[in-house]
Amino acid sequence: MPLAGSLQCMKYVVCVPDGCADEPLDALGGRTPLEAASMPTLRALALRGKVGRAAVIPPGLPPGSDVGNMSIFGYDPARFHTGRAPIEAASLGLKLGPDEVAYRCNLVTIDAQDTMVDFSGGHPTSDDAAPIIKAIDEALGGEVRFYPGVEYRHIMVAPSSWVDAECTPPHDLSDKAAVYPVGPAAPKLRALMDASRDVVGAFGLKANQIWLWGQGFQPQMPSFAGVFGRRAALTSAVDLVRGLGVLTDMAVIDVPGATAGYDNDYGAQRDAALNALRNGTEVFIIHVEASDEAGHAGDLAEKIRSLELWDSEILADLVRELDRMGPWRMLLLPDHATPLHLKTHTSDPVPYLLYDSEVAGPGGEYSERFVASTPVVAGHDLMAQLVGAESPV
Ligand SMILES: [Zn+2]
Repeated sequence: MPLAGSLQCMKYVVCVPDGCADEPLDALGGRTPLEAASMPTLRALALRGKVGRAAVIPPGLPPGSDVGNMSIFGYDPARFHTGRAPIEAASLGLKLGPDEVAYRCNLVTIDAQDTMVDFSGGHPTSDDAAPIIKAIDEALGGEVRFYPGVEYRHIMVAPSSWVDAECTPPHDLSDKAAVYPVGPAAPKLRALMDASRDVVGAFGLKANQIWLWGQGFQPQMPSFAGVFGRRAALTSAVDLVRGLGVLTDMAVIDVPGATAGYDNDYGAQRDAALNALRNGTEVFIIHVEASDEAGHAGDLAEKIRSLELWDSEILADLVRELDRMGPWRMLLLPDHATPLHLKTHTSDPVPYLLYDSEVAGPGGEYSERFVASTPVVAGHDLMAQLVGAESPV
């Protein structure tokens, strides 16, 4: 059967420009960054594919990259999301026992008036941060353990009884009074945060204490191959996204030059995708953080630049090479919106694009405005559509 034959060698690419969705801006004459950026390849794909609106953040869950990317990977966050720390713990190779809970442990800067001056503690390098976390583990570890992660982002593992606390993400407190945990486990958490000041302060960096939040048990996610019947791999510089890959048994590809900043090597991520797809990988997820970073910084020029680099450095050659390889499909969408004027994530539905090289869809434009009146679909249903027997367009 020709259909089965073509499905067997079908390649699937999922493109995630983190936080790229936005709102109309006066500075762009009422257009959004997606409408203003020059993206000829994306426009051509949208004209022949299908566009719509997806709810990647289910009601009641925070609009974080952990929730949004879990949706994009095809898993309902309402069912599988337990917190962001256990996902980051997985990216560090930590396996939590059933009687353990992981907390995110930020290095932060809080001033004498108790104001959260910097949720990233002056953005130390991973090399500068590792000895601090080691010292904290030596001084305060025992019932809990501390594990060094990336830059200001680290992990604390505690007994499961410590899970019961309401904690505030430190990036929600920027330039505001620190809001400390409340609930049964709060006194122990507060005691650690207070005691960490002597240890962190001794290093003479901008960070002066730890901040504990984002706790959860290890999510029980079935493997991607088990759920969708396809071998999957991904590239991302973000530990949350890499952790989701680990938890779903995907191959997490290390791409030198892939960063969470504006200096990301888009072409290197594209080549990693093509290389994997040529060598037996069926589904490849490309996640780029730069557009979200620009949203948080309120930097319009960088947000547009990151979108244009997606088009010129990833999509243009990717489409040409995929066409040479055989039949292929694409899903493109962000994990949430990060509007420039808000500088933070929102829970609004985001535009998605589905493309099938074999089947022409209704066509459209990949923009917030174009999909505004289309029905909202659940973000976690899109992966099944992408890899399903029926064409998704
Ligand atoms: Zn994100």
